[in-house]
Amino acid sequence: MSSNPDKEAARAELRRSIVDAFCKVMNGSGLPPMMVMSLAAAAIGSIYREVADQHRSGGSCSCGWQPSPDADVEALQAALATATEAVPFPDLRIAQVAGRA
Ligand SMILES: [Zn+2]
Repeated sequence: MSSNPDKEAARAELRRSIVDAFCKVMNGSGLPPMMVMSLAAAAIGSIYREVADQHRSGGSCSCGWQPSPDADVEALQAALATATEAVPFPDLRIAQVAGRA
């Protein structure tokens, strides 16, 4: 866990947005939780692809980031695996909400 307040705020904001979207899709679609989780993970993957494409030579961003898909995907997989082992925001647990879907 990082103690960087900007990173923690970004983490909390992203988590809130994704919980909102997850619950909305769960309640609206009737799809099972793992299906919705897989769609969420796939959405992250496609966002990575889009952002990486914008950072290749001739891309629209000039921040200097050089995508390296193998290492980047490995980092994303590690983040996913690590996060499933911990409950960083016990106050924001959604099990009860999702369980009613
Ligand atoms: Zn950039």
